[in-house]
Amino acid sequence: MFNTKQGLKLGGLGRISPEVLFAGALGVVIVASLILTVYAAFSGGSGAVGEPLDFTDSTFTFQCLECPHQFEASTDQVLTHTSPLLLREHASILDCPECGTKNSCLMTQPCPKCGHEYIWPQTLSFYSSLQQGGGQALPTENICPGCGVDVDEFYRARRKR
Ligand SMILES: [Zn+2]
Ligand SMILES: [Zn+2]
Repeated sequence: MFNTKQGLKLGGLGRISPEVLFAGALGVVIVASLILTVYAAFSGGSGAVGEPLDFTDSTFTFQCLECPHQFEASTDQVLTHTSPLLLREHASILDCPECGTKNSCLMTQPCPKCGHEYIWPQTLSFYSSLQQGGGQALPTENICPGCGVDVDEFYRARRKR
């Protein structure tokens, strides 16, 4: 059996035990921090939920929840350091190379307007839902901390053109 002392700690989200991660990974429908599959299909740039990740440079930006550190991880690094369970959900949690906190870094996405990289609320709510045993990953308002734009609104407006 798992030792719960090895539970994941996420800033502001409390602890996530491996059991919960497992349970959550089974039932959650996804959202933001996605790698690999789905978004490749959208590379045409329809501007659906979140811009498609850019696979041409094959790096992903991660942000630590415990310190301000932001860093790039290659696809290889992500695949190597992410549990198969999370990968199956197109999600990833990495250790922080700066402050050393385990499992404290979530993937960011760029603001479609100013390019500021940050953890989208959908990503946070996805991990919250894992913590709560899966179920709802409620979409929340997505305001860019860089330029203050309402990202969902931004996409809506752009689609109208
Ligand atoms: Zn850190
Ligand atoms: Zn912005």
